[in-house]
Amino acid sequence: MQDLDNIVNGQKLFLKPEYQEVLKNKKEFEGSMGAINPAKVEEIQKWTESWDYREKNLAREAITVNPAKACQPLGAVMVALGFENTMPYVHGSHGCVAYFRTYFTRHFKEPTPCVSDSMSESAAVFGGLANMKDGLRNCNALYKPEMIAVSTTCMAEVIGDDLGAFIIGAKDEAEGELDNVLIPNAHTPSFVGSHITGYDNMMKSILEQVSTEKTTVDEERINIIPGFEPYLGSLKEIKKISKMFGDKIVMIGDHEEQWDTGAGEYKLYAGGTKIEDLKGSINAKATISLQKYSSIATAKTIKNKWKQTYETCNPIGLSGTDAFVMKLAELTGKEIPEELKQQRARLVDAMQDSYPYMHGKKIAIWGDPDFLLGMVSFLVEMGAIPTHVVCHNAPRKNWEAEMRAILDKSNRSDECNIWPGKDLWALRSLLFTEPVDFMIGNVYGKELYRDTKTPLIRIGFPIFDRHHLHRYSMSGYEGGINLLTWITNGILDQLDEETKDIAETDYFFDSVR
Ligand code: SF4
Repeated sequence: MQDLDNIVNGQKLFLKPEYQEVLKNKKEFEGSMGAINPAKVEEIQKWTESWDYREKNLAREAITVNPAKACQPLGAVMVALGFENTMPYVHGSHGCVAYFRTYFTRHFKEPTPCVSDSMSESAAVFGGLANMKDGLRNCNALYKPEMIAVSTTCMAEVIGDDLGAFIIGAKDEAEGELDNVLIPNAHTPSFVGSHITGYDNMMKSILEQVSTEKTTVDEERINIIPGFEPYLGSLKEIKKISKMFGDKIVMIGDHEEQWDTGAGEYKLYAGGTKIEDLKGSINAKATISLQKYSSIATAKTIKNKWKQTYETCNPIGLSGTDAFVMKLAELTGKEIPEELKQQRARLVDAMQDSYPYMHGKKIAIWGDPDFLLGMVSFLVEMGAIPTHVVCHNAPRKNWEAEMRAILDKSNRSDECNIWPGKDLWALRSLLFTEPVDFMIGNVYGKELYRDTKTPLIRIGFPIFDRHHLHRYSMSGYEGGINLLTWITNGILDQLDEETKDIAETDYFFDSVR
């Protein structure tokens, strides 16, 4: 029980005698029912670390144990929050939306506006039209958005609700209340793809449904689509670099400010791409996507329907940022500014400083397809060996070949393995059978660390258990220095840990690394 004069958190609370007693009794009860046989548990535990189990685990197809991806509407919600005065609206069950909100809020440590029309049993049988009619009017009346971006959960998709028809029906019956609000919509069935597919579907829908008036091409205007970007500092950095090349380079879907508001009066909508800028995106000279595999469908709209120049860049690490900067220079016809050249020189210098520590380190890494392409490229630049590259939501086409081309630049490429479609339970087997020096990934690597003792360097999404990392950039030359800081210092922490035993390993104790 809590003592009012001395409130303690969960770390200390469950060490109190009354809780210890409960836990002991529970164990005894379960043990006496035959649920716990410590010898058997130990035996199975050991077996799950073997090559035999690994083969079975890697052959597993029908079930995901520990996913390294989220579901489609989560990505759709991120897109919506990248636009000015826009409310994400999820047609489907309320529990899903509670999950999206908490997932983002735990990562960004900020509130996440998002509504649902709370479909329940009757809607699952008769369809969710009534929910949509009430939901859109309520959302508009309560939160006064300029745009409502509608996506779907599994439930609405399983019963086949037709968003386009439902929204027309809802507008017809709204007595004019919805006439002045934009309502783009995207079907985001979660049994296909992942959060990046949802991002793509929603971005494509917003562009197609809102940016419709093609006039003359604005030769100075360039759109930048950031993709599913969990590092707010990256958005800031990309905008900073873009501004050096022109004032009309506009980020489409800029969620930086929404998840980085200051203390004081709460604002429901913060920042975001201006609706006017969104409407004008069809008339830009070109669009650059920073996450090729988070914008596959969007690319088709831009290339085929808008007939616009479409480029992809991945500004992570040295060569990735070089390519982005050179692309901006090419599209704008401007020289690369001196400031960027200096930033580049500083990154190269920092890479030289850290190279001896990263070189030769075996790394297991997981995450989204574009994150992995950028990060693995950087690891190879630093001489590290990406031994296991796990991409649960790997696209079927091209991604693996693109990753292999990056790994082939390593002089130890034969030690680098790509694992498309595998989850973190599969990675556990890989770590036991072919160990690495470090893991790079999200919060869910914490369990893998406890199991395998492989040190975890937290880079990715989501990161719930460390603060403020999302505020930094991992893109651009400055972002490269942040990556170096996180990775090299992770390696040095481990080195210190391994050289602290008195008269055994402490001969390598050193206050200068
Ligand atoms: S997978 Fe389906 S049921 Fe689960 S949170 Fe996503 S939309 Fe909801």
